[in-house]
Amino acid sequence: MYTYVEMNRVNFSIVFGVNIVLLLFVGSAFTNPTKTEELNIEDFENYNNEINVEDEEADAKNRNAVNSPLQRWPSNILLYRISTDYNKDEVDNVHAALQVFNESTCLVFKQYDPRIHGNSKHIYYKKSPNMCGTKVGFNPLSPMGPHDIVLNPYCLSERGVIQHETLHVLGLYHEQSRPDRNKYVQIEYSNIPQQYWSQFIAYPEMYTTTYNVKYDYESLMHYSQFAFAKDSTKPSMRARNGTMVIERKMGQIVGPSEGDLTKIRLMYKCN
Ligand SMILES: [Zn+2]
Repeated sequence: MYTYVEMNRVNFSIVFGVNIVLLLFVGSAFTNPTKTEELNIEDFENYNNEINVEDEEADAKNRNAVNSPLQRWPSNILLYRISTDYNKDEVDNVHAALQVFNESTCLVFKQYDPRIHGNSKHIYYKKSPNMCGTKVGFNPLSPMGPHDIVLNPYCLSERGVIQHETLHVLGLYHEQSRPDRNKYVQIEYSNIPQQYWSQFIAYPEMYTTTYNVKYDYESLMHYSQFAFAKDSTKPSMRARNGTMVIERKMGQIVGPSEGDLTKIRLMYKCN
């Protein structure tokens, strides 16, 4: 199971990236009265398994999900470092994005300083011309050095996307991948190209846990109801209400939901 989640529907260059995505977005706004005009996380992350992810891809593909305590970060103090490639707005966005965790959980995001922290494990916000993504959870096999989050300028412009990637690093998978998700959503495979079915895998309970937090359609980790839809006027996921399916909005990129924060607090034993 690969855990490297990256961005983008089109392998675009740094120069054309924003334009292409905006074109897709504008196009859908004109042709698609049902789909909301908001962007969703699947518009940023890449769903393409074969994308050329850097260094540790092979390792990422073999890792278990984050039920294991070893895949939680060992300390509540999380060191982070921002690439010197980032411009001032991008740097400010990362700091601001992390603030919510400092304020609403017992985690303390603190800037990494090589003179003080040496080779300590730290989250490294790196720049990529065309990808956004990271590996899920702490990697106990690599307890020192950087844990990369790669972000392109487009992803860096949205604090919610920076927070989404950071939640992956802390150990959260996508909400619709929960082992119990079939009780809450119905995946409309007939409206999803087969090459993207892997994006809708529910992870088995032996690898993941829900921390008994209620299924959260508003999670920052939830795809939208139109994610990867062949016919984007129709949902690819429908909410369930018992045996009934209902249409409802899912996902957002504004910021972590209360459910997301609750999971982090439980995972990191806040209080
Ligand atoms: Zn993601």
